[in-house]
Amino acid sequence: MEMDETLLMIPGPTRVAQRVLKAMSENIVNHRSALFGRILTETTEMMSDVFRTSNKSYLLTGSGTAAMEAAVANIIEPGDKILNVVGGKFGQRFAQIVEAFGGESITIDVEWGKAVNPDDIGYTLEENDDIKAVTVVHNETSTGVANPIREIGKIMDDYDALYIVDTVSSLGGDEVDVESYGIDICVTGSQKCLAAPPGMAAITLSNDAWRVIEAVDNPRTYYLNLKKYRKSGDAEPPETPYTPAVSLIYAMHEALKVIMEEGLSNRIKRHKIAAEATRNAVKALDLELFPDEAVSSTTVTAVNLPEGVTDGELRGTMRNKYHVELAGGQDHLKGRIFRIGHMGNITHRELITTFSALEMTLRELGFEVEMGEAVAAVADTYLPEDL
Ligand code: PLP
Repeated sequence: MEMDETLLMIPGPTRVAQRVLKAMSENIVNHRSALFGRILTETTEMMSDVFRTSNKSYLLTGSGTAAMEAAVANIIEPGDKILNVVGGKFGQRFAQIVEAFGGESITIDVEWGKAVNPDDIGYTLEENDDIKAVTVVHNETSTGVANPIREIGKIMDDYDALYIVDTVSSLGGDEVDVESYGIDICVTGSQKCLAAPPGMAAITLSNDAWRVIEAVDNPRTYYLNLKKYRKSGDAEPPETPYTPAVSLIYAMHEALKVIMEEGLSNRIKRHKIAAEATRNAVKALDLELFPDEAVSSTTVTAVNLPEGVTDGELRGTMRNKYHVELAGGQDHLKGRIFRIGHMGNITHRELITTFSALEMTLRELGFEVEMGEAVAAVADTYLPEDL
Protein backbone atom coordinates (compact mmCIF):
# COMPACT_ATOMS: atom_id res chain seq x y z
CA MET A 1 0.00 0.00 0.00
CA GLU A 2 1.26 3.47 -0.82
CA MET A 3 1.84 5.36 2.41
CA ASP A 4 1.06 9.00 2.80
CA GLU A 5 3.10 11.28 5.03
CA THR A 6 0.78 14.25 4.60
CA LEU A 7 0.27 16.29 7.76
CA LEU A 8 -3.44 16.14 8.51
CA MET A 9 -4.63 19.56 9.62
CA ILE A 10 -8.26 18.76 8.99
CA PRO A 11 -11.06 18.54 11.55
CA GLY A 12 -10.92 14.77 11.63
CA PRO A 13 -9.73 12.23 11.08
CA THR A 14 -6.66 13.37 12.96
CA ARG A 15 -3.15 12.01 13.28
CA VAL A 16 -3.03 8.86 15.38
CA ALA A 17 -0.04 8.16 17.65
CA GLN A 18 2.14 5.18 16.78
CA ARG A 19 1.34 3.46 20.08
CA VAL A 20 -2.37 3.65 19.24
CA LEU A 21 -1.78 2.24 15.76
CA LYS A 22 0.34 -0.53 17.25
CA ALA A 23 -2.40 -1.43 19.72
CA MET A 24 -4.56 -2.40 16.75
CA SER A 25 -2.08 -5.06 15.71
CA GLU A 26 -2.69 -7.14 18.86
CA ASN A 27 -4.32 -10.52 18.38
CA ILE A 28 -8.05 -10.60 18.02
CA VAL A 29 -9.63 -12.19 21.09
CA ASN A 30 -13.04 -13.68 21.71
CA HIS A 31 -15.33 -10.73 22.21
CA ARG A 32 -17.29 -12.80 24.68
CA SER A 33 -14.45 -13.51 27.07
CA ALA A 34 -13.23 -12.27 30.43
CA LEU A 35 -10.20 -10.66 28.80
CA PHE A 36 -12.25 -8.69 26.32
CA GLY A 37 -14.71 -7.80 29.09
CA ARG A 38 -11.85 -6.20 31.01
CA ILE A 39 -10.63 -4.26 27.98
CA LEU A 40 -14.17 -3.08 27.24
CA THR A 41 -14.77 -2.05 30.84
CA GLU A 42 -11.51 -0.09 31.03
CA THR A 43 -12.27 1.60 27.74
CA THR A 44 -15.81 2.61 28.63
CA GLU A 45 -14.74 3.76 32.10
CA MET A 46 -12.08 6.01 30.56
CA MET A 47 -14.71 7.20 28.08
CA SER A 48 -16.97 8.23 30.97
CA ASP A 49 -14.04 10.06 32.57
CA VAL A 50 -13.53 12.02 29.35
CA PHE A 51 -17.26 12.76 29.18
CA ARG A 52 -16.92 13.78 32.86
CA THR A 53 -19.84 11.71 33.98
CA SER A 54 -20.43 9.00 36.54
CA ASN A 55 -22.91 7.39 34.13
CA LYS A 56 -21.88 4.51 31.91
CA SER A 57 -20.68 5.01 28.36
CA TYR A 58 -21.23 2.69 25.43
CA LEU A 59 -19.12 2.15 22.34
CA LEU A 60 -20.89 1.73 19.03
CA THR A 61 -19.28 0.32 15.91
CA GLY A 62 -19.86 3.15 13.48
CA SER A 63 -18.81 6.75 13.02
CA GLY A 64 -20.08 9.74 15.01
CA THR A 65 -23.29 9.83 12.99
CA ALA A 66 -24.21 6.38 14.35
CA ALA A 67 -24.22 7.82 17.86
CA MET A 68 -26.26 10.84 16.70
CA GLU A 69 -28.73 8.42 15.16
CA ALA A 70 -28.81 6.24 18.30
CA ALA A 71 -29.51 9.32 20.43
CA VAL A 72 -32.57 10.20 18.37
CA ALA A 73 -33.82 6.76 17.33
CA ASN A 74 -34.08 5.45 20.90
CA ILE A 75 -36.13 8.31 22.33
CA ILE A 76 -38.45 9.11 19.48
CA GLU A 77 -41.94 7.96 18.60
CA PRO A 78 -43.65 9.05 15.41
CA GLY A 79 -44.84 12.65 15.66
CA ASP A 80 -42.65 13.58 18.61
CA LYS A 81 -41.37 17.14 18.53
CA ILE A 82 -37.63 17.62 18.79
CA LEU A 83 -35.98 21.04 18.84
CA ASN A 84 -32.86 21.15 16.70
CA VAL A 85 -30.43 24.05 16.85
CA VAL A 86 -29.19 24.41 13.28
CA GLY A 87 -26.20 26.63 12.60
CA GLY A 88 -24.27 24.41 10.24
CA LYS A 89 -24.02 21.06 8.58
CA PHE A 90 -24.13 18.92 11.72
CA GLY A 91 -27.04 20.77 13.27
CA GLN A 92 -28.85 20.07 10.00
CA ARG A 93 -27.92 16.41 10.30
CA PHE A 94 -29.69 16.08 13.64
CA ALA A 95 -32.84 17.62 12.12
CA GLN A 96 -32.63 15.19 9.20
CA ILE A 97 -32.27 12.23 11.56
CA VAL A 98 -35.35 13.36 13.49
CA GLU A 99 -37.34 13.52 10.25
CA ALA A 100 -35.97 10.15 9.14
CA PHE A 101 -37.38 8.58 12.31
CA GLY A 102 -40.80 10.14 11.87
CA GLY A 103 -40.35 12.97 14.37
CA GLU A 104 -41.24 16.59 13.88
CA SER A 105 -38.14 18.75 13.77
CA ILE A 106 -38.58 22.27 15.07
CA THR A 107 -35.50 24.30 14.31
CA ILE A 108 -33.80 27.35 15.67
CA ASP A 109 -31.90 28.54 12.63
CA VAL A 110 -28.68 30.29 13.52
CA GLU A 111 -26.68 32.19 10.94
CA TRP A 112 -23.67 30.07 9.97
CA GLY A 113 -20.65 31.51 11.77
CA LYS A 114 -22.63 32.56 14.84
CA ALA A 115 -23.50 30.71 18.04
CA VAL A 116 -27.02 30.09 19.30
CA ASN A 117 -28.37 32.44 21.94
CA PRO A 118 -29.35 30.12 24.84
CA ASP A 119 -32.36 32.34 25.61
CA ASP A 120 -33.84 31.44 22.22
CA ILE A 121 -33.93 27.82 23.36
CA GLY A 122 -35.71 28.89 26.55
CA TYR A 123 -38.30 30.93 24.59
CA THR A 124 -38.98 28.04 22.22
CA LEU A 125 -39.42 25.58 25.08
CA GLU A 126 -41.71 28.06 26.81
CA GLU A 127 -43.92 28.25 23.72
CA ASN A 128 -43.93 24.49 23.04
CA ASP A 129 -44.34 22.45 26.19
CA ASP A 130 -44.51 19.21 24.20
CA ILE A 131 -40.90 19.29 22.96
CA LYS A 132 -39.36 15.97 23.91
CA ALA A 133 -35.70 16.80 23.42
CA VAL A 134 -33.33 19.53 22.28
CA THR A 135 -30.29 18.78 20.15
CA VAL A 136 -27.25 21.02 20.11
CA VAL A 137 -23.97 20.56 18.28
CA HIS A 138 -21.30 21.76 20.66
CA ASN A 139 -18.59 22.39 18.11
CA GLU A 140 -20.13 23.07 14.70
CA THR A 141 -17.20 21.76 12.67
CA SER A 142 -18.58 23.16 9.41
CA THR A 143 -18.39 26.76 10.60
CA GLY A 144 -15.75 26.70 13.34
CA VAL A 145 -18.21 27.83 16.02
CA ALA A 146 -18.48 26.57 19.60
CA ASN A 147 -22.00 26.75 21.03
CA PRO A 148 -22.41 27.64 24.72
CA ILE A 149 -23.42 24.21 26.00
CA ARG A 150 -22.85 25.09 29.65
CA GLU A 151 -25.22 28.08 29.48
CA ILE A 152 -27.77 26.10 27.48
CA GLY A 153 -27.62 23.43 30.18
CA LYS A 154 -28.60 26.01 32.80
CA ILE A 155 -31.67 26.95 30.77
CA MET A 156 -32.56 23.31 30.13
CA ASP A 157 -32.64 22.75 33.90
CA ASP A 158 -36.04 24.44 34.00
CA TYR A 159 -37.61 22.10 31.43
CA ASP A 160 -38.37 18.39 31.13
CA ALA A 161 -37.07 18.07 27.57
CA LEU A 162 -33.96 15.91 27.23
CA TYR A 163 -30.72 17.73 26.46
CA ILE A 164 -28.81 15.99 23.66
CA VAL A 165 -25.35 17.25 22.71
CA ASP A 166 -23.07 16.30 19.84
CA THR A 167 -19.49 16.61 21.02
CA VAL A 168 -18.05 14.73 18.06
CA SER A 169 -15.44 17.40 17.33
CA SER A 170 -14.95 18.78 20.84
CA LEU A 171 -14.76 15.96 23.39
CA GLY A 172 -11.18 15.64 24.55
CA GLY A 173 -10.28 19.04 23.12
CA ASP A 174 -12.69 21.53 24.65
CA GLU A 175 -14.62 21.89 27.88
CA VAL A 176 -17.36 19.28 28.05
CA ASP A 177 -18.72 18.36 31.45
CA VAL A 178 -21.67 16.10 30.82
CA GLU A 179 -22.81 15.82 34.42
CA SER A 180 -22.47 19.41 35.56
CA TYR A 181 -23.99 20.80 32.34
CA GLY A 182 -26.99 18.51 32.79
CA ILE A 183 -26.54 16.79 29.43
CA ASP A 184 -28.85 13.80 29.09
CA ILE A 185 -27.36 12.22 26.00
CA CYS A 186 -23.87 13.04 24.80
CA VAL A 187 -22.33 11.58 21.67
CA THR A 188 -18.88 11.60 20.17
CA GLY A 189 -16.65 9.96 17.59
CA SER A 190 -13.21 8.39 17.75
CA GLN A 191 -11.36 10.20 15.00
CA LYS A 192 -11.22 13.81 16.17
CA CYS A 193 -9.96 15.15 19.50
CA LEU A 194 -9.65 11.63 20.90
CA ALA A 195 -7.07 10.94 18.16
CA ALA A 196 -8.11 7.35 17.54
CA PRO A 197 -8.80 5.93 14.08
CA PRO A 198 -12.23 6.51 12.51
CA GLY A 199 -14.97 3.95 13.00
CA MET A 200 -16.05 4.13 16.64
CA ALA A 201 -18.71 6.23 18.29
CA ALA A 202 -19.48 6.65 21.97
CA ILE A 203 -22.59 7.65 23.84
CA THR A 204 -23.48 8.27 27.47
CA LEU A 205 -26.95 8.68 28.92
CA SER A 206 -28.50 10.08 32.09
CA ASN A 207 -31.18 8.33 34.16
CA ASP A 208 -33.75 10.71 32.70
CA ALA A 209 -32.73 9.65 29.20
CA TRP A 210 -33.09 5.98 30.14
CA ARG A 211 -36.55 6.67 31.57
CA VAL A 212 -37.62 8.16 28.24
CA ILE A 213 -36.05 5.28 26.33
CA GLU A 214 -37.81 2.71 28.50
CA ALA A 215 -41.14 4.38 27.78
CA VAL A 216 -40.66 4.07 24.01
CA ASP A 217 -42.75 1.12 22.96
CA ASN A 218 -41.07 -0.07 19.87
CA PRO A 219 -37.85 1.72 18.98
CA ARG A 220 -37.43 2.07 15.25
CA THR A 221 -33.92 0.75 15.27
CA TYR A 222 -32.47 -2.70 15.71
CA TYR A 223 -28.67 -2.38 15.57
CA LEU A 224 -28.62 0.83 17.58
CA ASN A 225 -31.17 -0.22 20.21
CA LEU A 226 -29.41 1.13 23.29
CA LYS A 227 -31.30 -1.10 25.70
CA LYS A 228 -29.38 -4.00 24.16
CA TYR A 229 -26.07 -2.21 24.68
CA ARG A 230 -26.99 -1.58 28.31
CA LYS A 231 -27.98 -5.20 28.88
CA SER A 232 -24.79 -6.55 27.31
CA GLY A 233 -22.67 -3.93 29.05
CA ASP A 234 -24.11 -5.00 32.41
CA ALA A 235 -23.48 -8.69 31.72
CA GLU A 236 -20.62 -10.56 33.37
CA PRO A 237 -18.22 -10.35 31.59
CA PRO A 238 -19.36 -7.10 29.94
CA GLU A 239 -19.99 -7.40 26.23
CA THR A 240 -21.45 -5.61 23.27
CA PRO A 241 -24.66 -6.99 21.75
CA TYR A 242 -23.07 -7.69 18.36
CA THR A 243 -19.50 -8.42 17.28
CA PRO A 244 -17.63 -5.19 17.98
CA ALA A 245 -14.71 -3.74 16.00
CA VAL A 246 -12.28 -5.44 18.38
CA SER A 247 -9.13 -3.81 16.98
CA LEU A 248 -10.70 -0.37 17.10
CA ILE A 249 -11.58 -0.92 20.74
CA TYR A 250 -7.89 -1.72 21.37
CA ALA A 251 -7.11 1.58 19.64
CA MET A 252 -9.68 3.48 21.68
CA HIS A 253 -8.30 1.90 24.86
CA GLU A 254 -4.79 3.12 24.02
CA ALA A 255 -5.92 6.55 22.77
CA LEU A 256 -7.88 7.10 25.99
CA LYS A 257 -4.85 6.02 28.00
CA VAL A 258 -2.84 8.68 26.16
CA ILE A 259 -5.49 11.23 27.23
CA MET A 260 -5.38 10.07 30.85
CA GLU A 261 -1.59 10.33 30.85
CA GLU A 262 -1.66 13.84 29.42
CA GLY A 263 -4.51 14.79 31.76
CA LEU A 264 -7.81 15.98 30.33
CA SER A 265 -7.41 19.53 31.62
CA ASN A 266 -3.89 19.79 30.19
CA ARG A 267 -5.16 18.49 26.90
CA ILE A 268 -7.96 21.04 26.76
CA LYS A 269 -5.49 23.79 27.64
CA ARG A 270 -3.22 22.61 24.81
CA HIS A 271 -6.14 22.82 22.39
CA LYS A 272 -7.05 26.31 23.61
CA ILE A 273 -3.51 27.56 23.05
CA ALA A 274 -3.36 25.94 19.61
CA ALA A 275 -6.64 27.65 18.68
CA GLU A 276 -5.39 31.01 19.87
CA ALA A 277 -2.08 30.55 18.04
CA THR A 278 -3.99 29.66 14.87
CA ARG A 279 -6.21 32.73 15.10
CA ASN A 280 -3.22 34.96 15.77
CA ALA A 281 -1.37 33.53 12.77
CA VAL A 282 -4.43 33.95 10.53
CA LYS A 283 -4.67 37.59 11.56
CA ALA A 284 -0.93 38.10 11.05
CA LEU A 285 -1.48 37.07 7.43
CA ASP A 286 -4.29 39.65 7.11
CA LEU A 287 -6.75 36.83 6.54
CA GLU A 288 -10.23 36.99 8.04
CA LEU A 289 -11.76 34.52 10.44
CA PHE A 290 -15.12 33.25 9.20
CA PRO A 291 -16.96 32.98 12.54
CA ASP A 292 -17.42 35.58 15.22
CA GLU A 293 -14.14 35.43 17.07
CA ALA A 294 -15.84 35.42 20.47
CA VAL A 295 -17.50 32.09 19.71
CA SER A 296 -14.77 30.55 17.62
CA SER A 297 -13.97 26.90 18.08
CA THR A 298 -11.15 25.48 20.17
CA THR A 299 -10.53 22.66 17.73
CA VAL A 300 -11.03 24.00 14.19
CA THR A 301 -10.53 27.46 12.70
CA ALA A 302 -12.56 28.52 9.68
CA VAL A 303 -10.96 31.22 7.53
CA ASN A 304 -12.43 33.21 4.65
CA LEU A 305 -10.62 32.43 1.41
CA PRO A 306 -8.83 35.61 0.38
CA GLU A 307 -10.15 37.27 -2.74
CA GLY A 308 -8.36 36.25 -5.91
CA VAL A 309 -7.52 32.72 -4.86
CA THR A 310 -9.54 29.59 -5.35
CA ASP A 311 -9.95 26.82 -2.83
CA GLY A 312 -8.29 24.45 -5.31
CA GLU A 313 -5.22 26.67 -5.64
CA LEU A 314 -4.79 27.26 -1.96
CA ARG A 315 -5.44 23.80 -0.60
CA GLY A 316 -3.95 22.15 -3.71
CA THR A 317 -0.62 23.95 -3.27
CA MET A 318 -0.62 23.22 0.45
CA ARG A 319 -1.21 19.56 -0.23
CA ASN A 320 0.91 18.94 -3.31
CA LYS A 321 3.90 21.09 -2.51
CA TYR A 322 4.01 21.12 1.25
CA HIS A 323 2.11 17.96 2.17
CA VAL A 324 -0.19 19.76 4.53
CA GLU A 325 -3.86 18.86 4.21
CA LEU A 326 -6.41 21.53 5.09
CA ALA A 327 -10.19 21.20 4.83
CA GLY A 328 -12.48 23.13 2.52
CA GLY A 329 -15.89 24.60 3.21
CA GLN A 330 -19.07 22.54 3.18
CA ASP A 331 -22.36 23.26 1.41
CA HIS A 332 -22.69 26.96 0.57
CA LEU A 333 -19.33 27.65 2.22
CA LYS A 334 -17.55 25.52 -0.39
CA GLY A 335 -15.07 27.80 -2.17
CA ARG A 336 -15.65 30.52 0.42
CA ILE A 337 -13.75 29.27 3.42
CA PHE A 338 -11.00 26.86 4.31
CA ARG A 339 -10.62 25.18 7.67
CA ILE A 340 -7.60 24.35 9.76
CA GLY A 341 -8.12 21.50 12.20
CA HIS A 342 -6.05 21.69 15.36
CA MET A 343 -7.46 18.80 17.30
CA GLY A 344 -6.08 15.63 18.78
CA ASN A 345 -2.32 15.51 18.98
CA ILE A 346 -1.61 18.92 17.43
CA THR A 347 1.12 21.02 19.04
CA HIS A 348 3.13 24.14 18.14
CA ARG A 349 5.27 21.97 15.83
CA GLU A 350 2.44 21.17 13.45
CA LEU A 351 1.16 24.75 13.57
CA ILE A 352 4.57 26.16 12.71
CA THR A 353 4.82 23.72 9.78
CA THR A 354 1.32 24.61 8.62
CA PHE A 355 1.78 28.36 8.78
CA SER A 356 5.20 28.37 7.16
CA ALA A 357 3.64 26.35 4.32
CA LEU A 358 0.70 28.74 4.18
CA GLU A 359 3.02 31.74 3.96
CA MET A 360 4.89 30.12 1.06
CA THR A 361 1.64 29.11 -0.63
CA LEU A 362 0.12 32.58 -0.40
CA ARG A 363 3.31 34.19 -1.70
CA GLU A 364 3.36 31.79 -4.64
CA LEU A 365 -0.26 32.64 -5.37
CA GLY A 366 0.65 36.31 -5.66
CA PHE A 367 -0.13 37.65 -2.20
CA GLU A 368 2.13 40.05 -0.44
CA VAL A 369 3.24 38.11 2.56
CA GLU A 370 5.73 39.21 5.13
CA MET A 371 7.50 35.88 5.46
CA GLY A 372 7.73 34.65 9.01
CA GLU A 373 4.95 36.79 10.49
CA ALA A 374 2.41 34.02 10.89
CA VAL A 375 5.03 31.66 12.24
CA ALA A 376 6.12 34.36 14.71
CA ALA A 377 2.47 34.81 15.74
CA VAL A 378 2.28 31.10 16.53
CA ALA A 379 5.56 31.15 18.42
CA ASP A 380 4.58 34.25 20.38
CA THR A 381 1.32 32.70 21.53
CA TYR A 382 3.12 29.88 23.31
CA LEU A 383 4.73 30.61 26.64
CA PRO A 384 7.99 28.74 27.24
CA GLU A 385 6.22 26.45 29.71
CA ASP A 386 3.61 25.54 27.08
CA LEU A 387 6.19 24.19 24.65
N1 PLP B 1 -20.91 15.98 14.35
C1 PLP B 1 -19.87 16.79 14.15
C2 PLP B 1 -19.79 18.06 14.92
C3 PLP B 1 -18.87 16.46 13.25
O1 PLP B 1 -17.83 17.26 13.04
C4 PLP B 1 -18.99 15.25 12.52
C5 PLP B 1 -17.98 14.87 11.53
O2 PLP B 1 -17.28 15.67 10.98
C6 PLP B 1 -20.09 14.45 12.77
C7 PLP B 1 -21.03 14.83 13.69
C8 PLP B 1 -20.29 13.18 12.04
O3 PLP B 1 -19.31 12.29 12.38
P1 PLP B 1 -18.91 11.08 11.42
O4 PLP B 1 -18.37 11.67 10.17
O5 PLP B 1 -17.87 10.40 12.27
O6 PLP B 1 -20.11 10.26 11.23
